[in-house]
Amino acid sequence: MDQIQIGRFIAACRKEQGMTQAQLAEKMGVSDRAVSKWETGKNMPDSSIMLELCDELGITVNDLLNGRRITMDNYKETAEKTMLEMRAMKEQNDRMLLQTETLLGSVSVAFLLIMCVLAKYLPIQPWIQAVLIAVGLVQLIPCVYYALRIEQSAGYYKCSSCGESWIPQYSQVLFAPHFGRSRKMTCPHCGKRVYHKKVLTKD
Ligand SMILES: [Zn+2]
Repeated sequence: MDQIQIGRFIAACRKEQGMTQAQLAEKMGVSDRAVSKWETGKNMPDSSIMLELCDELGITVNDLLNGRRITMDNYKETAEKTMLEMRAMKEQNDRMLLQTETLLGSVSVAFLLIMCVLAKYLPIQPWIQAVLIAVGLVQLIPCVYYALRIEQSAGYYKCSSCGESWIPQYSQVLFAPHFGRSRKMTCPHCGKRVYHKKVLTKD
């Protein structure tokens, strides 16, 4: 996806509609700066307002994502290309999320270890030792929550029995025995309770 081309296209369509950046910004409920960033290719419009934006510009989302008007002749080809590119973007995004999960988990566990070491070796009173360890444990809870949230929603879990990939509920992930990112869960496709591997793509 060529953000610069998309930006130029947004600017061209806006001018066709006889709008200034400020007018478009007001209609969309965003700042002038946001519109300027779209048009210079620094930012993509948020997916939550993309439909409305396309409406204002008199184009389709497919046109927008391709940075040009799509005619019937090249519709199928560009639609497929767009789908593939969206998929690649999602995969990249999921990969980054999973890296964030690893980082978050590592930092949080390291923090707990540091608190334990300090509690053990610093010449401090027992109640301060207890506080240090408690702080180390308490910060672990939201970190584990968010890390698991990421793991649950990024990518898919692939069943080792039937090979189907699916996205489980948070509770399924939370209570599943795991080994690294592989989790033992009941597959909704074949019904077997087996290990599922984390994968980024569905196929
Ligand atoms: Zn299965």
